[in-house]
Amino acid sequence: MVKKYCPGCGRISFSACREDWYCPYCREDISRQPDYGINETVHLGGKNEAGEIGAGKDSRIITA
Ligand SMILES: [Zn+2]
Repeated sequence: MVKKYCPGCGRISFSACREDWYCPYCREDISRQPDYGINETVHLGGKNEAGEIGAGKDSRIITA
């Protein structure tokens, strides 16, 4: 089982299959997105082609 981050809607989806993976929320094709182990931290900004991790829109720190 692996999980992927969808850059289209910013949600995480889980699947046992790594082929033809479409986001269940917005139907974006995320087959080429990097996959993560089930316990691995997902970097919300995703990775670009150089393997760099983006900041991500949800990476801000929220203080009460
Ligand atoms: Zn999506």
